[in-house]
Amino acid sequence: MGSMFQTAAAKLKNLRYEKTPQIISQGLRLLYPPLCRACDKNLAAEPESSGLDAWLCPSCLVQVERITPPFCRICGESFSGAIDHAFTCPNCAGRRMAFDFAISAYKAQGPLRHLIHRFKYGKDISLRGALSDAMLATLEDPRLVQENLSRWLLVPVPLHWSRKIVRGFNQSWELCCQLSDRTGIPALQALRRVNRTQRQALLNRKQRLVNMRGVFCLKNAWLPPWRAKARLQGANVLLVDDVLTTGATAHECARVLRTQAGVQKVVVITAVRG
Ligand SMILES: [Zn+2]
Ligand SMILES: [Zn+2]
Repeated sequence: MGSMFQTAAAKLKNLRYEKTPQIISQGLRLLYPPLCRACDKNLAAEPESSGLDAWLCPSCLVQVERITPPFCRICGESFSGAIDHAFTCPNCAGRRMAFDFAISAYKAQGPLRHLIHRFKYGKDISLRGALSDAMLATLEDPRLVQENLSRWLLVPVPLHWSRKIVRGFNQSWELCCQLSDRTGIPALQALRRVNRTQRQALLNRKQRLVNMRGVFCLKNAWLPPWRAKARLQGANVLLVDDVLTTGATAHECARVLRTQAGVQKVVVITAVRG
């Protein structure tokens, strides 16, 4: 009787400490099956995976396109063809960007374009997990792999307070927090947006650069220097945004971080390239 009890107890212990999490996770997967974030297809039958694969069904995944070399070594714009050396695209050739380089994980097309749109304009904050997992791919760039990123800072492109009220959240800060959870890289809201700008989408490349001048400043710059500014002095920053288009916004953020806070390197990472 005693041994039977012991066996049952051991079984229970086993169940509790080893098997339960899996049982619960499988049960939850059946009760609340994960759905493809783009087309709502049930993913319960798909093998559990990581990265963007965990959030999209196979037929949506084949429609997303990773940005792979060859791409511009400054802005990350991809080009087709056999270019086997580091090159600068015509848009970056005549300009000096304040950031070191920009990397986007995917092209802004198909399901990802749809997700970004829902995240920003549909105010669907639940998409932050999928989009930040998509962004993890940017950290695989060889130029970042060689760095000790745990000493870097994740800094979001800020949103004007009036837009934040309308949207309810700053999408770039949400991505920063998720990335920080996944990677352990600390996140810091170092910048503030002081001016509301016209929608950049309506402007051309040159107008965008002019439009962005003086739009950002250091957040809490008036606080004693041992606060945020001290953390930024000499630091390397991963500037986080959802989309990179012309790079005008990223350029202006990087300029402020370098000139006003003494930041050393600024690398821009975005989920998609517009
Ligand atoms: Zn799908
Ligand atoms: Zn370029």
